[in-house]
Order: sequence, then C-alpha cells, then structure tokens
Amino acid sequence: MEEQTRSIVQQSLNALLSNETFLPELQGDMRKTAFTSLNAILSTPNQIHKSFLRVPLKDGEVVRIPSYRVHHNNALGPYKGGIRFHESVNEEEVVNLAFLMTLKNALHNVPFGGGKGGIVIDPKAFSEQELQRICIKYVRYFNNVIGPDNDIPAPDVGSGEREMDWMMAEYKKINPGSPYLGSFTGKSVVNGGSLGRREATGKGVYFTFRYLIHDYVTANEKSLAVSTNPFAKTALEFINKPLTIAIQGFGNVGSITALEAYRCQNLQNKVVAVSDRNVTLYNADGLDIPALVEFTAKNRGDLPTTEEQLKEIKVSAVIQPREDILTMDVGVLFLAALENQLNDQNKEEVKARIIVEGANAPTTTEADDYLSQKGVIIIPDILANAGGVIVSYLEWLQGRETQFFTEEEVYKQLLVKMQTTMDLILPQYFGDPFPLRQNCYIHSVTRLSTVLYKQGKLY
Ligand code: NAD
Repeated sequence: MEEQTRSIVQQSLNALLSNETFLPELQGDMRKTAFTSLNAILSTPNQIHKSFLRVPLKDGEVVRIPSYRVHHNNALGPYKGGIRFHESVNEEEVVNLAFLMTLKNALHNVPFGGGKGGIVIDPKAFSEQELQRICIKYVRYFNNVIGPDNDIPAPDVGSGEREMDWMMAEYKKINPGSPYLGSFTGKSVVNGGSLGRREATGKGVYFTFRYLIHDYVTANEKSLAVSTNPFAKTALEFINKPLTIAIQGFGNVGSITALEAYRCQNLQNKVVAVSDRNVTLYNADGLDIPALVEFTAKNRGDLPTTEEQLKEIKVSAVIQPREDILTMDVGVLFLAALENQLNDQNKEEVKARIIVEGANAPTTTEADDYLSQKGVIIIPDILANAGGVIVSYLEWLQGRETQFFTEEEVYKQLLVKMQTTMDLILPQYFGDPFPLRQNCYIHSVTRLSTVLYKQGKLY
C-alpha cells in the first residue's frame, strides 16, 4: 500500500511538473530542483519517534511495549492522527498511515498536518488498569513531541474515548498550567469531546456516496450522458434505480454507515448484507439494521452468529461466511473493516460497481488497478472517511475556545466541508480518465506543493 501511495504521489508530481501554469515562476533547473525537493519531502516522514513503554503488569511482570509516534508533515498545521492499539502495528504501517493523514487533511483543507501513532499490543489481552498504565506511559514517553500546537493524537483501531480521556488527564497532570483540551481529540463529551464525533466518520462515508451518486449525478445528468468518461457511464447505471448495498465491518464506521443507508430517504436503498469478524448476514429483501445495531450494542460489538440469536431479535437473515460479503452480487460495497480486503486473490470475483472505502487502505494496488480499468467507481479512503478528522478539528477548535457546538451545528459543518471537497474534485474526475483516488491525490499534492513553495522549503 505504501508503494501505491508513493507511486500515485509521484505521478501527481509529474503531472504538476509538466503543467506550466502551476507555479509558473519556477522555470528550468529551479523547477527541477523544487520538484525533487517536493518528492523527497512528501515521500519521507519528518520524524519517527519510537519508545519501549516500561509497564508493570498486575502479576508483577514488567513488560517493554514497542510504541510509535510518526510526524509525517506539518506544512499545513500541527501533526494530527490516531493511535492504533494492535498487535500487528509496525513502523512501516504507522509511517504510511501518517502519510495518508497528510494527504487527507490537505484534500479537505483541514489546517493540520499528518501524524500517526501505534502501540504494539492486543488491547483485549490486558486488564483495564493495565491499559490505563500503558496510556499514561505513552503520554509520558512522547510528552515532548505532542501537544495542542504540535501534534494532536486521536483514537484509531483498538482505542476510543476511554483511552483519550486517560491520556488527556496525564497530559494535564505533567504540563501544569498549559491548555490541555486541545491535546487529544476523540475524548468523551463530558471531558471536552465533541458531540457527533462518534458518528462523524460513518456519516461522512455515506454522504460522499450519496452526494456523488444522487446529488451530483442527478444535477449533471445531461453532460455525463454525452461524456466518454468510463466512470460517468457507471454512475449513470445507478440513476433512479433501486440500490443494493453490502457493508463489510459493523463497528463504529460500518454500523453508522449502515444506519445512514437504511434511513436515507433520497435513494431506494436496500442494505442486503452486513458482516463483521465472525459472519456475513444476508437478506435479499433488506436487513433490519436498527435491530442489528441494538444487538451489537449489547454483545460486545458482534453481530448475531446463530439462528436462535436472529430469532430472538426477529431479524430474518441467512448466515454466511464472513468473506462472502466481498463478492456478493450487489451494486454498492462499503468497506469498513480492515486493510487489503480487496486484493489479487478476490479482485476478479468482485461484482459491485461502486466501492466506498470507509476503512483505511482496504484495496490493494492490484485490485485498485483491475477494478478501475473495469470502470468501477472507488471512492477512496482519504475522501470518504475524513469525517472523523474533520470533527476532530471541530473538537480541537471548541477546546481552544471552550465554546461548544450543538450536534446539529457539528453535522452541518461536517457536511459543508465534505461537499466543498466533492464539488472541487468531481468535475475533474468526470472530465479526465483517472480514477477518483488519483484526482484526490493530485488535489492534495497541489495544495501541499504550493504551501511548501511559499514557505521557502523547496531548495
Ligand atoms: P471498529 O473496531 O469499531 O470496527 C471494526 C469492524 O470490523 C468490527 O465490526 C469487526 O468485527 C470487523 N472486522 C474485524 N475483522 C474483520 C474481518 N476479517 N472481516 C470482516 N470484518 C472484520 O473500527 P472502526 O472505528 O469502525 O474502524 C474501521 C476502519 O475504519 C479502520 O480501518 C479504521 O482505520 C478506519 N477509520 C475509522 C475512523 C473512525 O473515526 N472510527 C476514521 C477513519 C478511518
């Protein structure tokens, strides 16, 4: 994946280099030098911080847990990105996720740079008290590189508001007198978190899909109908037709996306399949999503796995293996679980004509190229799942001002921001033959390059 990110960034830079209207003041050798600097700056992180957290466990054993904080780029503002708690965390993954954060924030014009953190643990293998100690140690070890004006962590896979509350409390304790509300985002609302943060990513994911396939395509139907663009043809296949939807992952992002799709009045949606780490549930007539959300809330996040459980909550569905979701005969597939889900092994079996990336990097380069060549519309992660960081920005802003928005105000600002980005990108997307991911990258790289040039960094 990292290779794919780098190669699309390189292609975006090549396109800008040969576009004489971009930074026309840079000519000849100066232009070449500036673009060499740009490539070097964007393809490497500013700093990689690594520590081994020394944590006593409840049985008396003392462990040293590898952990990271990566600062990719801060040209647009303080570093920003989550802390992943997972046993597979490694330096390369954290660097790539930090890189994606730089591109995501640039794309949506959020005044943050890109950062990411990781702790190499399976959080389910530790007691609550041990996890709290791990969080406290993380803040102590990285205290000199984080902070509201330098680097603002947030939750990621395996962490949530509980961990952010503990971390903010430790930051406050060891930095007496300093502002602390903006030091972490994704906190609980009573601790200065933002209303709407929990739902923000799923709402944004569904919004990007609805806006592209309904609002934009309906408003531009005539011009798209005469276009030779392959993705315009795909989009028009869906206009005013009932939509069948499958959603992989039923956690924070997937369950909110499913609820949004279920409730959406503007489209004739049928969510026919959802899945999680255990199962796929399928019903050709549409699933009762609110009943499934209620079930998962009472069952540690897991979907029903037996006929008895389905009967108890009066949900009619066929239980299938979890991988089935990826190759179902549906129009739209939302990916809201893990990386590398569509890959070389299954790319030829994928039937969906629209894929929306709620998860980070769920499509490998091979699958991405193959599906794009077939005219499949892939709404990429940096466009679709930015709702979380956009509302994190609103949380940071509210923390600085100690003035708090209503939930309605948060959603309004979130959707305005995402729509602004879509309105910038979509005309270009339907006007050239590149996949949407490449259009997004070109846009992010253009913004970053302009800012870096004006900051005098391209020498
Ligand atoms: P989560 O832990 O709440 O949910 C993950 C879901 O995926 C669960 O339903 C789990 O059962 C399921 N899952 C795990 N392994 C699976 C497998 N092999 N097959 C199918 N399903 C599987 O996580 P989340 O917060 O919803 O995040 C999901 C993805 O979205 C991650 O890639 C994350 O980086 C990305 N993301 C999340 C946010 C956010 O605000 N939460 C923001 C941006 C990106």
